[in-house]
Amino acid sequence: MQANQTGDALAGTERVSQFDSVEEQLLLRAFVSNMVSLYYVDLTKDEFIYLKNIEQPQTDISTLAIPPEIWQEAETFAPELLQQRRETMEAALKLASCVPDRAKRLECMKCFSVQGLKDAYEKGSLHLMQELQVRRDGRIIWVVIQAELFPHPYTGNLLAFLYIRDISAQKKNERIMNVLMNRGCDYVGVIDVKKRTMTLQFVSDMILMAAPHWAGRKEILFDDDMFKPLQQLLPEADREKMTRSTSMEGILDELRDSDMFTTTFMLCIPGKKPMRKQLQYYWVDDSHEEILVVQSDITVAYEKELVNEKLRREASTDPLTGMLNRRGLRGELDAIAHEARSKGRSFVLAMGDIDYFKRINDTYGHDAGDEVLKKIATMMTAMMRGKGVTARVGGEEFVLAFHTSAVAQVCEWIDTLRMSIENTEITDGENRIHVTMTFGIAVVGPFDEIHEAMEEADSKLYYGKNHGRNQVVT
Ligand code: GH3
Ligand code: MG
Ligand code: MG
Repeated sequence: MQANQTGDALAGTERVSQFDSVEEQLLLRAFVSNMVSLYYVDLTKDEFIYLKNIEQPQTDISTLAIPPEIWQEAETFAPELLQQRRETMEAALKLASCVPDRAKRLECMKCFSVQGLKDAYEKGSLHLMQELQVRRDGRIIWVVIQAELFPHPYTGNLLAFLYIRDISAQKKNERIMNVLMNRGCDYVGVIDVKKRTMTLQFVSDMILMAAPHWAGRKEILFDDDMFKPLQQLLPEADREKMTRSTSMEGILDELRDSDMFTTTFMLCIPGKKPMRKQLQYYWVDDSHEEILVVQSDITVAYEKELVNEKLRREASTDPLTGMLNRRGLRGELDAIAHEARSKGRSFVLAMGDIDYFKRINDTYGHDAGDEVLKKIATMMTAMMRGKGVTARVGGEEFVLAFHTSAVAQVCEWIDTLRMSIENTEITDGENRIHVTMTFGIAVVGPFDEIHEAMEEADSKLYYGKNHGRNQVVT
C-alpha cells in the first residue's frame, strides 16, 4: 500500500516522468525549496549517499572539525550512529556540533541514524521532521531536517531522503507575526491601489472568529462591502468617520500629503466589552502603488489613558463644586498668561470670598454651608463662560481669571454677579440663606508675576472686607 502510494507519486504525471530516477526528482525539489543539503539512504543496505549541498556558504559544514565532547555524546546517546558509514556519521556529528541546544543535538543525531530511521518507519511514520537552530561562524540560522521514508518502487529496499532546509526566513516571519499578535495586532494587509485588493499578511485568531471568510484567503477585494459588517458594530459617533477612513478615496485623500494616516474607533460587539481599535495606513514605497494597513487593539492602552485622564481630572478638580482647584487653576492660569504675554497684552485677575461664611456654618450647619458653596460656584461658572476660568482655591475663596485686559468691563461683570448673589435666596431645603461676597481685582501686565498680582487682588479683597464687605474693589 505504502509502496504503491510512493511509487505513484514519483512515477506519476507526464511532467514528472521526464526525470527517470528518484534522485533526480528529489534534486529538482531540493532546488525549489531552499534546500541546504540532501541525502539519499538505502536503509536496507545501510548506505548513506550524500547527494547535494546547494551553495550556501554559511551552512556549509564540510570543513568543520568535530569537537571531542560531540564524539562523547554520540558514544553515550547514539552509539548506533558511530557504526554507520564514516561520511554520513561525520556529517551528522558536524551538523550536531553546530547545534547549541543539547536536547536538539541528540534529536539531530537520531535523524541521521539508520537504526533510528528504520525504527520510525516500522512504527508507521513516513515523515520525520526536526527543527534546529544552527550556529555557524557566529550566525544563527534555523534549519529543518526532514526525512521521507519509503520502499524503493522497484527493489523494495527501504529508502530515506533527508533534506536539510534553511527556514530562517520563515522563522523570522513567524517571530514578526508573534510580536504583532502580542502587541494586539488584528490584521496586517497590503492594499494594491490600482487593483483595489488587499493581500492579508497576518490575521489574528480573534479577527478570524469575527470574519471567518478571511480564513485562508490571501487576497480580498478592498471595496465598500468589505467594511460593511464592521459599520454595524460601531457607535453612532464613529460611523461617518469610519466610512471615510475605510474607503479607498478617503484613505488616498488622507495620504495625499503624508506618509501615514492613523485613526481610532470603538468596536462594540454585543455581549462583549467595547474595544478600542487603531487603524494605520502607510505608503509601502515612493511609487504610491501599495498601502500597508495595520489594525491593532489598543483597548488596554486606551483604558489606561482614560484612568490617567480621570486621575488628572480628579487631581485638578474640587469634588464639592466641580470647579478647578488650586492645582487645576495653575495650568489654566499659565495658559491665559502665556497667551496674553505672547501678544504683549495684560489680563485681569480677581479674588472673591464669601462674607461671614463661618456664621452661615454656625447658624445653619455645615451641610447648608456646602449648599451655599455649590450655588455660588454654579453662578460664578455661568458668569465666567467664554470669559475665562474660575477656581475654588480655599474654603470659601475663589479666583477668577479673565482673557480680557478691560478692567472696567470685568468690574461690571463681577459687580453684576455680586448683586445677583446678594439677591439670591439660597436654600438647603429647610432654610433660606442670604449671602454676599467681596471681590478684589488686579491687572496682570505682560511683564508681571502672577503671584504678585494674586497678592494684590487679595489685599484689595482684604480692603473690601474692612470697608463694609459685599463690594468689588479695584
Ligand atoms: P469673612 O467675611 O471675613 O470672610 O468671614 P468668614 O467667616 O467668611 O471667614 P473665615 O475665614 O473666618 O471662615 C471661613 C469658614 O469657611 C471657616 C470654615 O469652617 C468654612 N469652610 C471652609 N471650607 C468649607 C467647606 O467646604 N464647607 C463648609 N460648609 N464650610 C467650609
Ligand atoms: Mg469669608
Ligand atoms: Mg476666607
